[in-house]
Amino acid sequence: MTIFSKIVAGEIPSYKCAESDNFYAFLDINPLAKGHTLVIPKREVDYFFDLTDREIAEMQVFAKHVAQAIKQVCPCIKVGQAVLGLEVPHAHIHLVPMQSEGDLNFANAKLQLAPEEMQEIANKISASFHA
Ligand code: 5GP
Repeated sequence: MTIFSKIVAGEIPSYKCAESDNFYAFLDINPLAKGHTLVIPKREVDYFFDLTDREIAEMQVFAKHVAQAIKQVCPCIKVGQAVLGLEVPHAHIHLVPMQSEGDLNFANAKLQLAPEEMQEIANKISASFHA
């Protein structure tokens, strides 16, 4: 079971932003920016491009709705999207609120936010999320 599957199962806590039957969104624990969110399929697949065509299409639409919620509550010009997957072997899309293209540089220092602030951000994204 991947660490992200344990998050979906509730065995490891997360700052949940949105959920559907097949997908789950939660704040990245080491965010590049306030509102940096991960979108994952509940099905355990390591490599993003090993997901089925249908899964990728549905996951992208789910991520779109999460990004729209992020943009409503996190001041940014646009929400950027990236797929890396070099650290956690469970496919995921990074959604990162951007003020400049440099904000999507994963070599940047990560933010250290208090649990209360993480929870507040997640609550706001969750309240703005509409499938
Ligand atoms: P990647 O696999 O795309 O290279 O990076 C994995 C991402 O998952 C990183 O941005 C990292 O901060 C995040 N991450 C790793 N473990 C956890 C975790 O247990 N909880 C949360 N919320 N994020 C995690």
